[in-house]
Amino acid sequence: MAPLRAVIFDLGETLVTFQGDPAETHRRGSERAYGLLWQRLALPLGLEEFTQRLLEIRRELFEKTFRELHQYTAADAFRRLLADLGLVASDALVREAVRRYFEPELEAYRPLPGAREVLETLRQRGYRLAVLSNASDHEFIVDLVKARGFWPYLDLVETSARVGKPKPHPLPFQAVLEALGVAPAEAVMVGDTVAMDIAGAQRVGMKTVWIPRNERAPFPFRRDILQAEARPDATIQSLQDLLKLPLLEKA
Ligand SMILES: [Mg+2]
Repeated sequence: MAPLRAVIFDLGETLVTFQGDPAETHRRGSERAYGLLWQRLALPLGLEEFTQRLLEIRRELFEKTFRELHQYTAADAFRRLLADLGLVASDALVREAVRRYFEPELEAYRPLPGAREVLETLRQRGYRLAVLSNASDHEFIVDLVKARGFWPYLDLVETSARVGKPKPHPLPFQAVLEALGVAPAEAVMVGDTVAMDIAGAQRVGMKTVWIPRNERAPFPFRRDILQAEARPDATIQSLQDLLKLPLLEKA
């Protein structure tokens, strides 16, 4: 059996947990993006309609993402909303609108107990560490990882938004393994969603650790969008339990 050299973490409900009110978080983010776009493009609709329309498009693209296993982004949602109004925005303006939209969500994600300590300890044990997140915006995930103090411990932060395919598609896992320079059997995936984190990682030949969680995901995202059976190599109830697994005693 190949010794483990890398630990790859899911982010949402694995290292951080969403503590906000989903509808309120969307409303506040929409308001910030609307303010910018209204100033720059003279939007021909009010805030309420903008907020509702953005929610519908985000929800539609989220479901399409998992139907097609192709990651549609938050930028795609903003471009679609504007195109429906006959408007075109520069990439820089869309990027800034997306950044403002995610500000309240960034605040609403809190670290799970022990997250930083676990990363620090695994780093000291000599493992290469990465975050691999299914997300509609790469920069949001980088900002979130930095804001919660995880950045110094990580060799890599990768997202479905950057790769173009969401977990459980093999591509995002393969992208991380290649960037870390490790074989699939030398890496373990730690995550809370069986259908995405566990089934996907197993299919490319990685080991898996499952942390079951019951928390809500931010609106409009359904946690049960994909169903799959998979048997993880280990199941743990808290992140600290990871440090006690014989699998991860020393790199
Ligand atoms: Mg998760």
